[in-house]
Amino acid sequence: MTLLPDSIEVFERGWLSSNNIVLHGRDEVAMIDSGYVTHAPQTLALLRHSLQGRPLARLFNTHLHSDHCGGNALLQAEYGCHTAIPASEADKVRAWDTEALSFRATGQQCPRFSFDATVAPGDSFILADMIWQALGAPGHDPHSLIFYCAAEGILVSADALWENGFGVIFPELEGASGFAEARATLELIAALEVAVVIPGHGRVFGDVKGALARAFSRLEYLSSEPARNAQNAVKVLLKFLLLERQRIVLADVPVLLADMPLLHQANRRFLRQEVPALAEWAVAQLVRAAAARIDGPYLLNQG
Ligand SMILES: [Zn+2]
Repeated sequence: MTLLPDSIEVFERGWLSSNNIVLHGRDEVAMIDSGYVTHAPQTLALLRHSLQGRPLARLFNTHLHSDHCGGNALLQAEYGCHTAIPASEADKVRAWDTEALSFRATGQQCPRFSFDATVAPGDSFILADMIWQALGAPGHDPHSLIFYCAAEGILVSADALWENGFGVIFPELEGASGFAEARATLELIAALEVAVVIPGHGRVFGDVKGALARAFSRLEYLSSEPARNAQNAVKVLLKFLLLERQRIVLADVPVLLADMPLLHQANRRFLRQEVPALAEWAVAQLVRAAAARIDGPYLLNQG
């Protein structure tokens, strides 16, 4: 990984788990984002190898989607690490309100964890002996933070900017504003001096201008016809289930989709289809994209 200093290590994990970023400082080691719960033992094994006997002192979450904080509980049990979460999520985590957190709405799992501190936009802290600033990055998630190290030009962009796009604009599915916030977040990133981006998913990249151009264009495509964002969400949420389970009985897909309150909302607002028809459409889309295949009564994960 030539783009980053040796003190920063990124475990690129794919789509079920977010990337994990390990920051090795002289005095302590910190990690940003902990992946999905079903990958937590693997996250711990990767981290242990990287730590070489040192403890994990601190854990940060960019935001509290299940694929970014699902390993928190295991890492806390293992290391008792000081954990910092976005300030605007504190009450929900304290009460473990799975309705207000996104887990229930998306049909995803996340074991309960605690926190020791909160991070708000504008806060600064030292990780890997460098000064980082947290910036608010609403759009994909109203509470998401991104972390910027001005001295090194490194941006931890979470799901606000990937090399090709960004995460689903979730607030719009519930009738709240998200496109305008996502645009403002991209503009904020464009105004920073960024040499390297560590995204929430996918590889570390240096062509920030290219990524921003693709992201602005995709945002335009989605916001000009919001049903596209809803359709994308249906596909993404079904693919996530498939990544988690690897195999789903086809006949169960409508039941699983019907059990996601967020999809009900998106369907009611933008798609207006009967759930079985929506399920059939989503399955066909994943198969067409080679993200799944049908084998007898099963839908199998692929790719
Ligand atoms: Zn996310």
